[in-house]
Amino acid sequence: MNTTTPPTDDIPQPERFSDLALDARILRAVSDMGYEKLTPIQAKAIPLLLDGRDIMGAAQTGTGKTAAFSLPILQQLLPLASTSVSPARHPVRALMLAPTRELADQVYTNLKAYAKHTPLRCACVFGGMDMAPQKAELRNGVDLLVATPGRLLDHLEAKTVNLGQVQFVVLDEADRMLDIGFLPDLQRILGFLPKQRTTLLFSATFSPEIKRLAQSYLQNPLLVEVARPNATATNVEQRVYQVEEDDKRATLVQLLRDNPLPQVIVFVNSRLGAGRLTRALERDGIKAAAMHGDKSQAERLTTLEAFKRGDIQALVATDVAARGLDIAELPGVVNYDVPFSAEDYVHRIGRTGRAGASGLAITLATARDARALADIEKLIKRQFEKLTVQLQPISRPRREADAPRSPRLMPSRGMPESMGAAAAPYPRMGRTPRQDPWFDKPYEPDPKAQPAWEPAESANAGNGQRSISPSIRPRRKIAALLGGHGAK
Ligand code: AMP
Repeated sequence: MNTTTPPTDDIPQPERFSDLALDARILRAVSDMGYEKLTPIQAKAIPLLLDGRDIMGAAQTGTGKTAAFSLPILQQLLPLASTSVSPARHPVRALMLAPTRELADQVYTNLKAYAKHTPLRCACVFGGMDMAPQKAELRNGVDLLVATPGRLLDHLEAKTVNLGQVQFVVLDEADRMLDIGFLPDLQRILGFLPKQRTTLLFSATFSPEIKRLAQSYLQNPLLVEVARPNATATNVEQRVYQVEEDDKRATLVQLLRDNPLPQVIVFVNSRLGAGRLTRALERDGIKAAAMHGDKSQAERLTTLEAFKRGDIQALVATDVAARGLDIAELPGVVNYDVPFSAEDYVHRIGRTGRAGASGLAITLATARDARALADIEKLIKRQFEKLTVQLQPISRPRREADAPRSPRLMPSRGMPESMGAAAAPYPRMGRTPRQDPWFDKPYEPDPKAQPAWEPAESANAGNGQRSISPSIRPRRKIAALLGGHGAK
C-alpha cells in the first residue's frame, strides 16, 4: 500500500453535492443540513466510495468525514431499502465503529439526518446504557448500526445482532480505538463479518499499528488525505505560554477573562485534575464543567448539551472524554496540561478550527514539559515561539494609571480573523474589581493600636512574667496536661 503519494489528487473532484450521483432523497437531506459545497475529504472520498473502493482516510476531525463515508454508503444501500416492518428485511448492512460514546452518538445523529428521507433504519449502541431498549431496537431490524466495540460485542454475545450481511464497515478514529485498547475487540468483531465487504478506515494520525490494521483488514485501499498526516490544521492559531507550575490556574483564569473566548475545551491529563480544576474555575467565577470517564453517560450528555447551549464557558476534559466531540465553531482549546503523547496534541487542537472556521489553541507549558513540547514540535514540524503572560492580581483593584494599554498577554496578538463574531469582548465573568477608594488607600497603622504579638504593659505589671498572648499558655502547663515533667 502506498501511503506517501495520495493517489486521488489527479482525479477531477466535484465541487457541489448536486455534481454527485446521489439519490434525490439524500441530496434533500444534505440541503436540509445547510451544506452547499463539498469539503475536501468529501470531494475526494465520495466518488471513490461510490465506486466501491476500500479507503484509508487521513482526515482530521471536523473535516466533514462523517458525511464523506455516510452519504455513499446510504446511496449504495438504497436499492435494498425496504418499507416492510419485518425485521428480516432490515439486516445490518453497514456497521460504523467509533471509540467513544460521544463520537458514536455524533456519527449517529448525523447519519440519521442524512437518512431521514429514506426508509433505511439507523441505530446506535454504546455502553453505559441499559441493554434492553437496544436489544429491542436491534431485534426490530436495523440497516445501519453505529456502535462502540465493547457494547457491540455484548450484543454479539447475547445474539441480539447478526453481522452476517454487513457490506460496509467504517472504523472511525481508528487510532483512538487502538489507544483505548480496542484492538482485540476490533479483531473479534471483524471476524463476525463477511469477507466480501467494503472497509473504510479513518484516522487523524497514522502509526505503524494503524497501517498494520489497514493492511490486514482492507483490500487494496486508496489513501485519501486532505492534510498531511499528523499536520495540524493551518486555520488554528497555536500559542504556547511558558508558565510556572503554581501560576497555571491564575494564567488560565486570566486568559479566559481577557480573551474573547466565549467557550473553550480545557484539556487536562487526569480525571482527578479535571475535577479539581473545574471546582477551582467555578470558585473564580467561570462557568465550568468536567467531562471525564468517571461521569455517567447521562451526566456526560447533559454536560455536552449545556456546553452546546452556551451555559458553560469551560469544558474541562480528559482526552478520551473529549474525543469526537463536535461542537460547531468552538473558538478555542486550552491545553492546561501538555499531553503525554504528541499525537494527542493534534487531536486536541483539532477540536477547534473545524469545517474551515478559525480557532485558537493555547498551551500552558511548564519547565517540566520541555520534552513533551519538543516531541510535539517534531510531530507537527514547527517550532513554537514561547510566549509569557504578565499575571495581574485577580481581585486587587486596578487604578486607571496602572491599567495596561495593550492586551495583557505578551506579546499581544490579534485573534484569528474569522473569529469575528466571537471577537466581541464577552462580559467578564466572576469578580469585578472593587471601586471603593477605601481599598485603594495605602496601609496606615493606627498609632494607638496595640499589636497582639507585643507584651501589653498592663499584662506584665506586677508578676514580672513575660506574657506572649493571653491565648498562649506557658509550655510547662501544656506538658503537665499531657502528663509530662513539670506537672505540679
Ligand atoms: P465531521 O468531521 O464529520 O465531524 O464534521 C464536522 C462538522 O462539519 C459537522 O458539524 C458537520 O455537520 C459539518 N459538515 C459536514 N460536511 C459539511 C459541508 N459539506 N458543508 C458544511 N458543513 C459540513
